[in-house]
This record gives sequence, structure tokens and C-alpha cells, in this order.
Amino acid sequence: MNSFEKTEEREHQSSSFDNPIREDAFLKSDDEKMSIIEKHMEGILETLGMDLKDDSLKGTPRRVAKMYVKETFGGLNPSREPALNTFNNTYKYGEMLVEKNIVVYSTCEHHLMPIIGRAHIAYLSKDKVIGLSKMNRIVDFYAKRPQVQERLTRQITSAMQNALGTDDVAVLIDAKHLCVNARGIRDIDSSTVTAEYGGKFKNDEALKASFLTYTQLKTDFED
Ligand SMILES: [Zn+2]
Repeated sequence: MNSFEKTEEREHQSSSFDNPIREDAFLKSDDEKMSIIEKHMEGILETLGMDLKDDSLKGTPRRVAKMYVKETFGGLNPSREPALNTFNNTYKYGEMLVEKNIVVYSTCEHHLMPIIGRAHIAYLSKDKVIGLSKMNRIVDFYAKRPQVQERLTRQITSAMQNALGTDDVAVLIDAKHLCVNARGIRDIDSSTVTAEYGGKFKNDEALKASFLTYTQLKTDFED
């Protein structure tokens, strides 16, 4: 199978874990969206009985609208997708590379409460290598959507596979869902772990195990 066919196949697969957005999702500009969301936020706060003439509260609807469109849910907009430049693997590094402890700030799509955690990404270098900070950017882009952790894990894996032209990618996310930790059952200690293993990671238990060992390494720069 050549690389083009492979990409086609991946894009086809990816549709099964796209975020459920409508086709008209980007017909409105960011400014239009912010104005509409601002009005809705006013309605919510007013319904709750808040006095929006209060000095501390009066800017809140606008602030929340801006935060939703530009930051918290900014990753819905494909125009913000990071360019994933890769380099030729001229130094022929052929082992696993692990980028661990990437910060995850996302939002649970069922409660719109924060998901906070860490992502660990591994890949087996083949022809291409990717700039390290690009992995943080991938995580950040897909995290800035209303999400479920399983989908986020798969989207990051797929983006890495597409950028690197290899299936040999593993992604693990360990995250706290504030909808579980801070409300409802209030289980402050629980966290959710999801993993996606592609290519050689799928069936090679030793490879999987060394990835997990790498993620446990303590990197400490203090004395
Ligand atoms: Zn939730």
C-alpha cells in the first residue's frame, strides 16, 4: 500500500471519531458567535437571578463568550489546526520516542466541566520525525473542544499517524474530570485513563510495556 492510499484510508476511518459538529458550524464569524453566546450567557445568569448591572458581573457574559470561541472551544475551528511540520529522519533514529506529561486542558461535552490531565505520546521513528512542541500543539488543538476522553485519545493518535506517515503511534491520557471530581459523586481522587495503540504497539506487549515504563520516569531538574 502506498502512502497516499494509506492517508485516504486514515481519513476515511477518522470520520468515525470526529466531533459531532454540523455542516454550517463555521458559516458564522467568530465575532458573530461571540455576540450570540454573550446574549445566551446573559440569559442564563439572569435566569439564575444574578444582577448583571453589578460591577463584578456585567462583563461576564462577554468574557465567557470570548473564552468559549477563542480559547476553550477554539479547537473546533479547522483553521486553527496546527501545521505539523516533520523532518527527515537523517540521523536514522529507529527507536521509540516518548513525549510525556503533556498538559491536557479539555472540556467534558456532557457537563461542560473541565477535564485536566496529562497525555503521553510515543511513536517509532521511521522516515520522518516531528518537532517535539508539535505534539503539545496537537494535544491542545483537539483538547479545545467539547470532548470525551476516548475521542480525544483517538484524534491525537490519528493526527500523529497522518503527520508521520506511520501507524506506529501510542497515546495515553490520564485525566481528572471535574464533573466527577467536583460534583455529582464528588470522587476527588479518581482519574480516567485511556489509551490508543496503533501499528506495532497494538500487539507487541513488550513495546507497550516499555512505553508505559517511560511514562513513569521521573524527570526532575531540582537538586
Ligand atoms: Zn462530564
